Amino acid sequence: MFPLRAGASGCWKNIVSIKDDLMGKNVNLHILFSKEVGKGNLTSFWYEVWTGPMTFKDKYPRLFALESRKLCSVEERCQKRDGNFLFSWDWKRNLNSVIEVEELNNCCREIATSGLGSTCDTLTWKGCPSGSFSVSSLRSIWVSQSFPTHNYVHFWNNLIPIKINFFGWRAALNRLPAKTELAKRGVTLPSAICGTCGTAEESVFHLLWDCNWVKQVWILVQLWCDLDLSNVTSIESLQNSTHSLLKSPMQIKVTNAVILSTLWMIWKDRNERNFNNNGSSPEKLLDDIKAISFTWIKSRGKGISVNWGSWCIFPFVVP
Ligand SMILES: [Zn+2]
Repeated sequence: MFPLRAGASGCWKNIVSIKDDLMGKNVNLHILFSKEVGKGNLTSFWYEVWTGPMTFKDKYPRLFALESRKLCSVEERCQKRDGNFLFSWDWKRNLNSVIEVEELNNCCREIATSGLGSTCDTLTWKGCPSGSFSVSSLRSIWVSQSFPTHNYVHFWNNLIPIKINFFGWRAALNRLPAKTELAKRGVTLPSAICGTCGTAEESVFHLLWDCNWVKQVWILVQLWCDLDLSNVTSIESLQNSTHSLLKSPMQIKVTNAVILSTLWMIWKDRNERNFNNNGSSPEKLLDDIKAISFTWIKSRGKGISVNWGSWCIFPFVVP
């Protein structure tokens, strides 16, 4: 459908000028507009597919090279009057080769079989129910594509700091600067491969759960807490995992706090490993997870009676 006529003006011209940027955000103007070609007054003769399977620019390259005004409309080159087609060409020079004349004959024949009519072209905007284009409706589509909505509801846990809750929420929505997420946002990286295992791309799910090294940490956490995390398919499902035998709301809350603490410590360790070349062993990380979660729960869990010795053996001694 684009480019439109050279005379296009105002916001429309601006929108057309950023169509490639919009495409990069999955906003395809060619799909969002549907056009009914009437007499061709809004249709590019050379650049749009308005009859046949391809553009005239590609089908008749010799003629296109000779065209004086390449952005002309269909109506400016041919009109249908009383059942007959009138052509008005504007060549840079006279056609002087067999191939050029042959292209012109074929082009005229094709136009004669087209559905060109006498009514004005109509352009319908599919981005809103009225069918009329508005910048606000385009903006809404762009926002919805750039920031997809999620149904995920984060369980806000007051046993751990707000910062860690916020981290868990971002992790569940893939909003951490993992390499694949950075690449999606146009950041150029030498490689998207996980720097810890070197065997897979570093997505949020990979770096917090699926990486071989990280799996060792989760095995230790599962043994410590007697958790079954065999059904984890996403960071969201991981955060909703609880001990199958736990009954009290407080025990479920503590489980969630331990899982969020583990996610946070894995993330910190990944950053330490990537940026300072100084990661921990899985066993050391488990000790750190025990310590940080104990500190948070001890200071924030009103009514929770827990001591360090029993916490290190099994954290669900809480009532
Ligand atoms: Zn890895």
